[in-house]
Amino acid sequence: MADEASGAHEHDHKKLGRELDLFTFSDSVGKGLPLWTPKGSAIRRELERFITDEEIRRGYQHVYTPDIAKLDLYRKSGHYPHYKDSMYAPIVIDDEEFMLRPMTCPHHFELYLDKPHSYRELPLRIAELAKLYRYEQSGELMGLQRVRSFCLADAHIICANEKQAAAEIEKVLELIEFVAGTFGLVKGENYRFRLSLGDRTNTEKYYKNDAAWEKGESLLRALLVKRGEKFEEAKDEAAFYGPKIDIQMKNVNGKEDTAFTVQYDFCMPDKFDLTYVGEDGQKHRAFVVHRSSIGAIERIVAFLIEHYGGAFPLWLSPVQTKVLPVSEKHTAYAQEIVEQLRAADIRVELSADDSLGKRIRGAKMEKVPYVLVVGDAEVEAKTATLEGRAGKIGALPVTDIIAKLKEEIRTRA
Ligand SMILES: [Zn+2]
Repeated sequence: MADEASGAHEHDHKKLGRELDLFTFSDSVGKGLPLWTPKGSAIRRELERFITDEEIRRGYQHVYTPDIAKLDLYRKSGHYPHYKDSMYAPIVIDDEEFMLRPMTCPHHFELYLDKPHSYRELPLRIAELAKLYRYEQSGELMGLQRVRSFCLADAHIICANEKQAAAEIEKVLELIEFVAGTFGLVKGENYRFRLSLGDRTNTEKYYKNDAAWEKGESLLRALLVKRGEKFEEAKDEAAFYGPKIDIQMKNVNGKEDTAFTVQYDFCMPDKFDLTYVGEDGQKHRAFVVHRSSIGAIERIVAFLIEHYGGAFPLWLSPVQTKVLPVSEKHTAYAQEIVEQLRAADIRVELSADDSLGKRIRGAKMEKVPYVLVVGDAEVEAKTATLEGRAGKIGALPVTDIIAKLKEEIRTRA
């Protein structure tokens, strides 16, 4: 796909993405529909495992729901009337209309409605790595940052009351800060908080309920103040169903987008009649928190490519290490090491063509975190000479190298 690579920042994710062979686009597939290469897919898989495991640890229940549903479902949720310009056109089959989903919310609500729920089950945190489709204007499309198909680490937290919802929003902010910290992102420097408000005068764009908007906006504002966060307030940036706290990040060219978000919803519980049975045995209206923890995988990968300048930490590196035999006679031993590393779940390649100097330079260009060089001395001593991005570390037994790399991967250092 054509892009603005000419004259682009050297860390522009579109430029680095091509150089490092992480993703591509095909006009035959369609604009804004990324194809992930094996290397890019390795990064994505690590991020998906990371966030799924972390969320499960924090009490989320991960589910799968379909990428498509009846158009009526989005009429009911309000997404169709509010977002139809940024949705793909309906698919008509057997006299029924279906839509590629632009959001996950109504799918999770229908799952919740499958059976009655007691107050004891709440808060109920339903999470999904959800594939979503939005028909962004072609002028808006930009590499992986703005796409037409993406995977959102989405969740809907069904709460019993406002107090519970406020506590859950705080927990979401803690999760988001944990995620940002894992990537080495610094608050105020790499990301900032934005309180995104509605507009009472625009009843076409926003669900009409002035009192609920006041309440929701004050609740989020009070939370940010209580946490001592610096934040900016932005009018007319809310979801149609309620205000939100957005975590904003800028790309290398200064273009800002929402990376993560947490939203307070007083509208969908009415539309979907989301209830629970209280301590008193009666039905009560539930509250909903919508949130994304790591955001859209495509967008966070775009930010991370730029943040790391393509030099990913070990756990995220598509190729974690390369084994370089000094000459052909060392290839069999190098192959043995490759198999040991692969058995230890380390992503490894054997690099045996070209001169040794050229191969070392090649590994550096590809930003591979570690290379293992093996020659006569290493074959003799059953070691490998380890070299990191910062320089040579030295000859070590292969088992020690594996232990060192595994620890670095485990701690996501
Ligand atoms: Zn939602």
